[in-house]
Amino acid sequence: MAPDRVWPFLAPEVPPDLDVSKNVILYVEGLTVAFDGFKAINNLNLYVDDGELRCLIGANGAGKTTLMDIITGKTQCDSGTVYFGQTINLLQRSEPEIAQLGIGRKFQKPTVFEAQTVFANLELSIKASKGIWYTLHASLSAEQREKIAYVLQLIGLAEQQNMLAGALSHGQKQWLEIGMLLVADPKLLLIDEPVAGMTAQETERTAELLTSLAGDHTVIVVEHDMEFVRSIARTVTVLHQGSVLAEGTMDEVQNNPDVIEVYLGSDE
Ligand code: ATP
Repeated sequence: MAPDRVWPFLAPEVPPDLDVSKNVILYVEGLTVAFDGFKAINNLNLYVDDGELRCLIGANGAGKTTLMDIITGKTQCDSGTVYFGQTINLLQRSEPEIAQLGIGRKFQKPTVFEAQTVFANLELSIKASKGIWYTLHASLSAEQREKIAYVLQLIGLAEQQNMLAGALSHGQKQWLEIGMLLVADPKLLLIDEPVAGMTAQETERTAELLTSLAGDHTVIVVEHDMEFVRSIARTVTVLHQGSVLAEGTMDEVQNNPDVIEVYLGSDE
């Protein structure tokens, strides 16, 4: 059951100026960025629907990370447009502003506070999302405690909440970091290689977690593990040399001759 139907106040907060009336939450058009003349992103178009779970695949160097860097304000593009909903031009926003708008990013390597408990990591994250004063001085409201309890259930770490994060398995650290994003109410989650280094069981659990987030959240997953992508993907976008090479269901892209030639047919 989707979280907002259980506890409506736990659904992601919608930024006041986010307009998804046309159902598209992320518009990327004609995007280009070059590093020393090399086009890492080359006239790229990408449209992601509100509530979608989209997988982004592509060989090393295809431009996946650079695209995430531009969406989150880490890298400036040379030309193109990137909109969050109908009205928010992300290219005019700074990295912290973009995070505040409700775009959360999880990098491949988990970056939890190892010397803090699981609960404290989530507490710090929920407070940090409200600003520095809040982080230093405020105590958790009842609603925030409930949200943390809910997220602990969702990420499967309720029993480990008093353990130090450093004692968690690699997979559990990845889930905790996803939880740290979730307590901050993201509308759009960008998740880089979530299952790298996970056991088969952890991978399966991660697939369940990410699919359960879609609907209330929009989730874009960058992943090299094709079995995992097949297990979660509705729509897969294949990047190649900074552009979209193919898009569709996993079967469609796997049977696309261009994809077979440049990516899936290779040793990747
Ligand atoms: P991977 O799967 O290996 O993470 P990727 O699809 O994420 O690859 P990017 O990291 O976006 O690919 O890189 C795209 C291309 O741009 C690569 O050829 C990379 O070397 C180049 N590139 C990325 N960032 C920079 C930079 N800051 N300066 C110079 N070249 C860069």
